[in-house]
Amino acid sequence: MSTANKSGLFQKLPSTDELLRQPDMQALIDREGHSAVAESIRAVLARLRQQIGQEVAESQLDEKSLDLALGGLSAAVERQLRQSLGYSLQSLVNATGVILHTNLGRAPLAASALDHLRATASAYSNLEFDLPKGERGKRDVHVDRLFQKLLSEDHLGTAAAGRPAEQSSAAISPVISTIVVNNNAAAVLLALNSLAEGGEVIVSRGELVEIGGSFRIPDVMSKSNATLREVGTTNRTRVADYERAITDRTRLLLRVHRSNFEITGFTEQPGLDELVALARRRNLPLMEDLGSGALFDLRSVGITGEPGVVDSLRAGVDIVTYSGDKLLGGPQAGLISGRADLVARMRSNSLFRALRVDKLTYAALEATLLAYVKHDHDAVPVLRMMRLSKDEIAHRAGKIVSKVESVQAKSGRLKLELVDGESVVGGGAAPSAVLPTRLIALTHAGLSADELSARLRANAPPIIARVEEGRVLIDLRTVLPDQDAVLAEMLSSL
Ligand SMILES: *Cc1c(COP(=O)(O)O)cnc(C)c1O
Repeated sequence: MSTANKSGLFQKLPSTDELLRQPDMQALIDREGHSAVAESIRAVLARLRQQIGQEVAESQLDEKSLDLALGGLSAAVERQLRQSLGYSLQSLVNATGVILHTNLGRAPLAASALDHLRATASAYSNLEFDLPKGERGKRDVHVDRLFQKLLSEDHLGTAAAGRPAEQSSAAISPVISTIVVNNNAAAVLLALNSLAEGGEVIVSRGELVEIGGSFRIPDVMSKSNATLREVGTTNRTRVADYERAITDRTRLLLRVHRSNFEITGFTEQPGLDELVALARRRNLPLMEDLGSGALFDLRSVGITGEPGVVDSLRAGVDIVTYSGDKLLGGPQAGLISGRADLVARMRSNSLFRALRVDKLTYAALEATLLAYVKHDHDAVPVLRMMRLSKDEIAHRAGKIVSKVESVQAKSGRLKLELVDGESVVGGGAAPSAVLPTRLIALTHAGLSADELSARLRANAPPIIARVEEGRVLIDLRTVLPDQDAVLAEMLSSL
């Protein structure tokens, strides 16, 4: 296009002020304010100017398409406004069947957690104020009392069942304390720095893990100023390997849960009891990074081999670290539970001040823990999802399918089918454990599976599904029950 033609097009563009004076802009200004509207107009005009100036012929705007764009200018400004004033972080429908999906925000919070969070956040609180004494208090007291209950009584109701209560709580001695930091990565950093700075930590080579999002044990170790002492081999480590590596520089024995992988075949790993015995004999603390850290007995939903926090403490592990937003089902947090004297050293470390969490986290965590204390497991969304039976999921799926089919009957371009499948826990828990589920499998006459999945993502709210073998798979295990209607409506519109 010639320069003269181009400048003709540029001249057709109205000015920001002209647009601001248009009556339909006035309504937007009344609603969203003058400066936001002016900014959106500038952004839309800048985009048009850039398109006119384009050197590449195909993407260049010609006279006809410019007229078209000018006709839709106020709609474009409104769209721009909605985008720039809308939230970037938004809620969505997780139809992947991955219960703890780090990309999708891990655990949704319990309703009681939201209520407590709202009440605590919208007014002042006794976060660090001792009400009876009327003086400064500590922020950790709010949840430490609940962790003491959950970790010293037998809330799992299995291992100690049948034993007298005093005996089961005596099995975990001495007193267990818990502190809260920003996430489990921070918990591991604080624990290693407090217990092993300047000294050595013994870890099995089979446990030098990397958890998604670049959390690597060797890196955290070096940041904590402790020296990693690797023992054994990737697939086999014996307790004698730990024993041989102990010197007067050794400060800690560390066990790391292999959260996101399993080693199978010719393998050997010392039992926790052997490590506990060694630690006791050599008077060294034993720490276990559990990662997910269940406070709920996963055996009851058919998941075995995932160690619970109580199991580890009862076995004699001195310190455990775990996440607040994995299997626990609470807010993002890192929890350090264990021997009170060791936890006290972490509390007095200045790193603890840097890694501490705010009142929102304490509020959400306190309410989540209270649900456990009350054995109200269905109140915690991730626990409810794990406990859902295949039949319950199939029932909901059947209802959605018949609803969509009754609307779609005539056009029929979307095909829905119910098939068996598997949900996974995710979030670094039980890497190979699956929960049987019933999936809605979608295919569309006019769209590929990837296009269909993109349509679902573009919905408001976005729907995230799995794509497998040319089909879009919807797993209702992770869809909140009140989102079923959104899903049915979206599918009906296809
Ligand atoms: C998930 C995980 C971490 C990191 O926890 P965040 O809460 O995400 O910081 C550390 N260690 C293990 C074993 C984990 O599974």
